[in-house]
Order: sequence, then C-alpha cells, then structure tokens
Amino acid sequence: MASMEITVQKTTQPKAKPQDESKLQFGVDFTDHMFLMEYEVGKGWFDPRIVPYGPISMSPACTCLHYGQETFEGMKAYRDPDGRIMLFRPEENFRRLNQSNQRLCIPEIDEAFALEALTKLVELDRDWVPSLSGTSLYIRPFCIGTEPSLGAHTSTHYLFAIIMCPVGAYYPGGLEPVKIYVETQYVRAVRGGTGFAKTGGNYAASLRAQDDAAEEGYSQVLWLDGVERKYIEEVGAMNVFFVIGDEIVTPQLRGSILPGITRKSSIELLKSWGYQVSERLLSVDEVIESHASGKLTEMFGTGTAAVISPVGELKYGDHVMTIGGGKIGPISQRLYDTMTGIQTGRLPDPFGWTRHID
Ligand SMILES: *Cc1c(COP(=O)(O)O)cnc(C)c1O
Repeated sequence: MASMEITVQKTTQPKAKPQDESKLQFGVDFTDHMFLMEYEVGKGWFDPRIVPYGPISMSPACTCLHYGQETFEGMKAYRDPDGRIMLFRPEENFRRLNQSNQRLCIPEIDEAFALEALTKLVELDRDWVPSLSGTSLYIRPFCIGTEPSLGAHTSTHYLFAIIMCPVGAYYPGGLEPVKIYVETQYVRAVRGGTGFAKTGGNYAASLRAQDDAAEEGYSQVLWLDGVERKYIEEVGAMNVFFVIGDEIVTPQLRGSILPGITRKSSIELLKSWGYQVSERLLSVDEVIESHASGKLTEMFGTGTAAVISPVGELKYGDHVMTIGGGKIGPISQRLYDTMTGIQTGRLPDPFGWTRHID
C-alpha cells in the first residue's frame, strides 16, 4: 500500500484565507484541499487523491448515515518560531484510528501511508497554517461506511478522508479555569462498548447531558462509569487529572475511556518531573473527601483542542466544590506551558514527539 501513488488535483479557485487570525473560530473555515481514498471489499483501499475541498456525493442509503459506522481523529499542525510547520505525535493518532476502526469493523489503513498523505496535504495547504500565538491548523482524518444499502451489517465500502481548518487560540485571554458538573443521570459509555474508540456515536450519546449542563452554566460534564456510577471517567472530549496531596491521579484505561494522546504525554511529562502519577480507579466520593480535607489542590482536563484545561469548579448533586480557589494551579500551568512550548518548537523536545513537515 505504501507504494500507492497519491494524485493531486489543485484547486483553480483558491479561497480567501481568514484575514484576522485573532478571530478564527473552531472548525468553520476549511483549507483549499482535502485527501480522499476509497475501499471496497475484495479490492482494498484505492484511489488515494488530493482534490479541492468541497462537498462529497454519496447515496442517501449510505451505512454511516443510518448505523453510525464512523471513526475520526483530531490533531494539530503548528508553526515554530521560524515559521516551519510541525506535527505533534501524528503516528499516535493513526495508530488510534486503527484501534477505533477495529472496534467499528472498519478496515485498517496503512499508518505510514496515512501520515505520508497527511504530510503531502499540509505541505500543499501550508499557507493556511496560522502563526499567531495559540492558533493552529486543526486536522480531522475520518472513516465512514459508504455502502449504498440499508442492510444493517458491516459496510462493504468505505471512505477515508482528511480535512483541515485553521483554528483560533482556545484561550485568547490566557488559561482560564472551567466549571464542570458531574453527570448523574446519563452515561456515555460502558466497558465492552465503544468508549475507547473515537467514533461519532459516543458524541451523539453525550449531547443531551452536554446541553443540560450548558443550561445550568457549566461548560462540560464529568462522566461517571456506566455500571456503578461511582468512578470518574472523563470530561466531554478531555481526559481528567486530579492533584491529591503528593499524588496525581488519572482514571485508568478500562475500555470506556478515550486513550488521549495529551493524557499520555502529560503522564510522561509529569513522571519526568518526578511526580507520582497513578492510573487507577478514582471514585467521586474520594474526590469529595479529598476536597473536604484540603488535599485536592488541582483538577485539569487534557485534550488536543485545549491542551490543558484547568477546572475551577466541580458540582456533584447539590455539592459545589471550588478547586484551587477557582484559579489555575501551578502543575496545570507548567504542563500547559511545557506542552505548548514543545508543540510549537519554542522549547526543546527531549521526547522526540514533534516532526517538521518541511
Ligand atoms: C479525542 C478525545 C479526547 C482527547 O484525546 P487527545 O488525543 O488528547 O486529543 C478525550 N476524550 C474523548 C472522548 C475524545 O474524543
């Protein structure tokens, strides 16, 4: 597969790029080109191509539209101080895409080839990578079942695509703590389900709770495990960490949590700084007790979009807990500064996490 030739059809009508990088929104302006590749049973993946960004035509009977056979990834390209473009651990994203694909019965893609395709696409649309501090080019690879049939079975046809959009700084005014509430009515995933896979269905299942939380003035929900409703899982599209005394705790991966690359990188960084990091079960009761005793000093979320998101307030039923005085804690701040420093080439990269594409 790695020998497949990627054809390139350049746009004849390049779009105007967003003028003001301080006003970039998330996921609304797309670059000039996209990557597409198809799959058919018996034929494998074929016709890898870069074409002008635009609508794709598909049958209204496509399997993904009715039965949700879909997987996706989210990653970013950044500019270093010299204007060169960098990716952060992209091979981890394609490895995870294949793990999601396995769960959703979508044929695997060649990870090295996907990275080659991505590199070619970013190179072609390189002028779309913004340079203002905090901005980046968000990259969205995804796979969908495209068999034109209502049969409720594994699709025989697929599309793999990569689309990209310049995005603004998540925190235009600097890191800001968010307010989160613990969801007690709905659950997002259960072990044995699809919680560890990056698939649209997990998001569809979480929207009701998300909307209810927003109505109460909370930006996201913290999920509890779907069986005992007792153990902390994750927040919206972020993994979570708690600083409890000398220990930094993050829920262990048991199949219902998305294995975040920012989570993994945070664990590696924290350990390299000498912190004791535990991946273990953490009950909501333990969080409440450690807050009451003053041992809970910081809570933060990790994910590609926000990188590190400090949590200033956590609500569980009638119990409202202010964490770290509602301010950003030193560990959250150090992680944020270091991670974004490595991602943008402003700090050395001792782990070899980044790669320049030019
Ligand atoms: C993508 C995602 C994350 C964060 O993963 P990163 O690789 O760090 O971006 C966390 N939870 C969910 C549900 C996600 O979809």
